[in-house]
Amino acid sequence: MARVEFRNVRKQFNDQNKQAFTAVAGSDFVIQDKEFVVFVGPSGCGKTTSLRMIAGLEQQTSGDIIIGDRIVNNLHPKDRDIAMVFQDYALYPHMTIRENLSFGLRNLKKPKDYIEQKVREAATILGLEDMLERKPRELSGGQRQRVAVGRAIVRDPQVFLFDEPLSNLDAKLRIQMRVELGELHKRLGATIVYVTHDQVEAMTLGERIVVMNKGVIQQIASPTELYANPKNMFVAGFIGSPAMNFINARVERGRLFISGGEFQLPQDAATGLQGYESGEVILGIRPEHIYGEDFAPGVSAEHRLNAHIKVVEHLGSENLVYFHVGERLVTAKVHPETKAYNGLDKPFILDLAKARYFDPVTEDRILW
Ligand code: ATP
Repeated sequence: MARVEFRNVRKQFNDQNKQAFTAVAGSDFVIQDKEFVVFVGPSGCGKTTSLRMIAGLEQQTSGDIIIGDRIVNNLHPKDRDIAMVFQDYALYPHMTIRENLSFGLRNLKKPKDYIEQKVREAATILGLEDMLERKPRELSGGQRQRVAVGRAIVRDPQVFLFDEPLSNLDAKLRIQMRVELGELHKRLGATIVYVTHDQVEAMTLGERIVVMNKGVIQQIASPTELYANPKNMFVAGFIGSPAMNFINARVERGRLFISGGEFQLPQDAATGLQGYESGEVILGIRPEHIYGEDFAPGVSAEHRLNAHIKVVEHLGSENLVYFHVGERLVTAKVHPETKAYNGLDKPFILDLAKARYFDPVTEDRILW
């Protein structure tokens, strides 16, 4: 297995008018040996292009790509010792599962015994032993996905690359395959780079996550760190569902003013926001840090806000309550026993100790 490094890697494409378009704008990162790293971001952010550059399916415009201890800039994909699993599985429909699994090794002219052993091992790991003589059309979506993974496993690559491998599966199967991929990673001790636009998939699978937007890496961190300490409003809004609420606010001498509320700031926030004396800020607060005042165990009732509930969504284990603060529609994720119905006026409590503050111009987090 091996580490993967990007050193100031850029990728530009030319559109039909020969205008240069930057898909990846100077990425720097190191993926450690045996690490499971997820590239996540909205459509068009450059994650697939980054993955394809590791594979050698796309040539970077500038910068260096290192796999293991080799600079692979000019190395052909087949010489990079990587294996890629695609979204559409790319199985050969006329071949049996055994033939699909062994195809790559047969091409490499590996000995027959070696190929048989590798196919057997992969089939055992993935629970495909009873299906080796079937054709892909005789398998379910999840089983086909496993064959696509098996085809990568038999090659013993230095790095596994996954490009949205679960997006063709239904929701239940996706969760099952997510668990299987996590286990597979532990079992193989493999370096895995995984692309998805689904932040839940990223949070559950990644040891570290690379969040991208418009070709630019926004933050690289563990799931818990991204959630607790987003670097900017993009990351704060992208990671977490329902998304973090952003409320226009003003700070003045340690006090926070929002539409319908005026609060004494917690001490650490007041200290951190000192540079923003009498300034505008964006208050970022996650839905689970807003409580109905009748169900807020252990939370100081100091920061109360009178709200007019617009809509309540009952999800069983929790309720989502929507109300306006100024022009912003705010979501509160509250305990199901919290009294809430459409049109009710009631106080909500903001746990400001858990809130984050952002600069309204740069959209960067204001640190303290
Ligand atoms: P998605 O989730 O939609 O696949 P992505 O983050 O993987 O998105 P990329 O496929 O990496 O995005 O594409 C990044 C940008 O580069 C997009 O705006 C895309 O249109 C553009 N792009 C990708 N490949 C090419 C190409 N061969 N020629 C021109 N532009 C391209």
